[in-house]
Amino acid sequence: MDDKISLVAQQLVKGGRNVVFTGAGISTESGIPDFRSKGGIWDKYRPVYFDEFMSSKDARIEYWKQKAELYPDLVNARPNPAHMSVAGLYETGLIEAVITQNIDGLHQESGIPDENVIELHGNTLRARCVTCGKAASLHEIHRRIEKGDLAPECECGGYIKSDTISFGQAMPEDELERATELARNSDFFMVVGSTLLVHPAAAMPAHAKENGSFLVIVNLSETPYDNVSDVLIRGKAGAVLPEISKEVRCLSMDVPQTIK
Ligand code: NAD
Repeated sequence: MDDKISLVAQQLVKGGRNVVFTGAGISTESGIPDFRSKGGIWDKYRPVYFDEFMSSKDARIEYWKQKAELYPDLVNARPNPAHMSVAGLYETGLIEAVITQNIDGLHQESGIPDENVIELHGNTLRARCVTCGKAASLHEIHRRIEKGDLAPECECGGYIKSDTISFGQAMPEDELERATELARNSDFFMVVGSTLLVHPAAAMPAHAKENGSFLVIVNLSETPYDNVSDVLIRGKAGAVLPEISKEVRCLSMDVPQTIK
């Protein structure tokens, strides 16, 4: 394990274009369950597809019921040591951007500016009318649901939905394009906490590899990219990422200073 951490740290400090790609697994230690692990969200709920949301009030009620149940975990969640380590690497200039499948806003809360967090699946702290596009905060919509408005609608008559991408809904084009460009041009690409099963987001490591990028995977369970990764670490993100940061700090201190 120490050898792997050291190899990852060496690649990070090399000075290339370094990108981090995160999934739900980076946030489980913040108290937000992932989708596919045992006890994860799909053990409890059935996903509401976008066309069902648009065509059935019952589906919209079910959609917001699920969101309401996840609301306390979401509002109480704080960035954990894995998020903070990524933010520390960003702050020292070693990471160009974070591409995330997460919708919890925890990378931004850890200190990474919005413009350098590419959210492929949106952000659940926002809600939006699917017709006129007017934005609302999740808190405001949650208050309406608590008062009995179980499938909230906009003043224009459109349906209000969390500002996230549901199954069957188109991906945000700008974010997808930017993420693909970042992955294609990366020298170092580190996946943290993702099964790498959801496409097209899961194609990002392939784009990175096509460029000869150094691929690191930190995940508790198997992924389809394990056998093409350069370093595979089966461990908890909240333990592994701080170790990587620590090693990076040691390496940075070891760099001989130029004598002027
Ligand atoms: P996933 O549920 O498919 O996989 C999570 C992966 O993380 C699993 O392989 C699991 O073994 C691993 N994992 C769990 N805890 C870990 C930990 N502490 N350290 C390291 N690995 C850990 O999640 P995914 O691949 O991100 O699936 C994509 C979908 O999940 C996305 O659409 C995303 O929007 C959604 N999602 C997001 C959140 C969030 O924003 N926090 C939560 C649940 C689901």
